[in-house]
Amino acid sequence: MQSFEYANPTTVQEATAQLGASWGHTYVLAGGTDLISLMKEHLETPRRVVNIKNIKELEGISKTCTELRIGALVTMDEVARNAEVRAGWKAIADAAEGVPSPQIRHVGTAAGDLCQRPRCWYYRQGFGLLAMKDGQPLVPNGDNRYHAIFGGGPAYFVSASSLGPALVAYGARVKLVSAKGAREMPVSEFFVAPKHETAREVAMRPDEILTEIIVPAGGTHSATYEVRQKMALDWPLVAAAVVVEMKGTAVGSAKVVLGHVAPTPWPAPLAARALIGKSITTASAEAAGKAAVEGAQPLSHNAYKVQLAKVAVKRALLEAAHGKA
Ligand SMILES: Cc1cc2nc3c(=O)[nH]c(=O)nc-3n(C[C@H](O)[C@H](O)[C@H](O)COP(=O)(O)OP(=O)(O)OC[C@H]3O[C@@H](n4cnc5c(N)ncnc54)[C@H](O)[C@@H]3O)c2cc1C
Repeated sequence: MQSFEYANPTTVQEATAQLGASWGHTYVLAGGTDLISLMKEHLETPRRVVNIKNIKELEGISKTCTELRIGALVTMDEVARNAEVRAGWKAIADAAEGVPSPQIRHVGTAAGDLCQRPRCWYYRQGFGLLAMKDGQPLVPNGDNRYHAIFGGGPAYFVSASSLGPALVAYGARVKLVSAKGAREMPVSEFFVAPKHETAREVAMRPDEILTEIIVPAGGTHSATYEVRQKMALDWPLVAAAVVVEMKGTAVGSAKVVLGHVAPTPWPAPLAARALIGKSITTASAEAAGKAAVEGAQPLSHNAYKVQLAKVAVKRALLEAAHGKA
């Protein structure tokens, strides 16, 4: 690892004053579960690291009657176990609980989960977000088992964030603060599918800190269902987050968002539409799962993900409505 300056601010103002105008020079350090490995692998070689873990204003979960606020430093374990989150925003708690390693859940933060870099093995081997070698994309004819089935390139990695789909389903926003001021952005716009090699996968600027996640109240029922190859140190193969507003026994409105199928959390409006006016049964949940994968474009080795996505949507809906998948 190359040597770097280390800053230990105690306020957001001090921290943002340390950040730079371009990616690569300075990085924010939270739990370090991703950044440290990127630095050890020389994928990131910052000249300055700004530790934000001593900034008290970034801690804590709070709830009003209209929204939930999750501080940047709240760990995935705190999100999973928080009683307010479990009661009112179950899909988010499910997603955080799904991270299988207790060590990662206790150290990794909610903001870090959104900002973690893709796990695509070509990216992690230094071929960039578009996985190019000698001007040619490596993924379409390469080992694309865990890559995207939606989006159509040129980026084929899948967003690694487990919280992302649930936050998009709830219409959550992130607060981004720089030395110049603060702005809020829908989580659905925070994640971006890069179109060229120097683009990033998030719309955050290098001089910004993600300070909190703001989630509106919404939906009478919700759940996240993940399909994993193993319950060990790994990411899901596919996930589905659903947020449903029931009117009596019928669905009044629904949001269905797939995870780990595209470079961003992937909304499935056809699945949501298929549910309107229906009660949630095995048959209607199956039909929604089928609708969710319309337009999927699997690569040479990942067609299995289409079936997993159908199953994830069906089980998330049954879990949301009846507490069983
Ligand atoms: C073995 C393993 C299994 C995992 N499984 C899953 C899984 O199933 N699902 C899942 O979603 N994740 C999974 N993760 C990822 C884990 O959840 C993330 O690494 C963690 O949440 C990142 O948080 P952190 O605080 O450690 O971030 P760091 O490593 O400190 O930072 C990660 C990135 O985010 C940036 N960053 C962090 N906080 C901020 C902020 N507040 N503002 C601006 N930028 C910021 C950093 O600069 C860096 O680029 C796994 C990780 C490992 C190692």
